[in-house]
Amino acid sequence: MLELPWERDMRVGIGHDTHRLEPGLPLLVGGVEIDSDRGAVGHSDADALLHAVTDALLGGGGLGDIGRWFPDTDPQWAGAASGQFVTAARDELARLGWHVVNLDGIVFVEAPRIAPYEPQIRASLAELLGVDAGRINVKAKTGEGVGPVGRGEVIAAQAVVLLARNEQAEPA
Ligand code: MG
Repeated sequence: MLELPWERDMRVGIGHDTHRLEPGLPLLVGGVEIDSDRGAVGHSDADALLHAVTDALLGGGGLGDIGRWFPDTDPQWAGAASGQFVTAARDELARLGWHVVNLDGIVFVEAPRIAPYEPQIRASLAELLGVDAGRINVKAKTGEGVGPVGRGEVIAAQAVVLLARNEQAEPA
């Protein structure tokens, strides 16, 4: 097989998550509390973006998914801060010789506007992943008034990450 001189061992991972919204609950996005009269329902702290990021990390590493690592039937994760799911996935990837090249994410929510929080969310994700904020991008979309997002019934998130193999690591 032709070996290209610039070729490195790289993997891409994708994640998606959805949580129902209800009045009177906190709304966390990427580890940042958003001022909102509605919040996300979940077993943990219901941070859809962090769950999508965790799944993207685990997916890129071929490590399954968040449900396998942190089952929502396990009382250990009741009310858990979802940042610990991200750092656990990151640490396992590091143990296997992988690091994050970049992450791109999308938050789907009708209200409130997420854009004003974007710098904070990027900084939070950068800290959790142990990378520069320049390697993180997050944007928010509404549902244009249609579908479960547009009706304000749910918050959803998607994330994609690129992983690269550390030079000194054994081949995967
Ligand atoms: Mg979730």
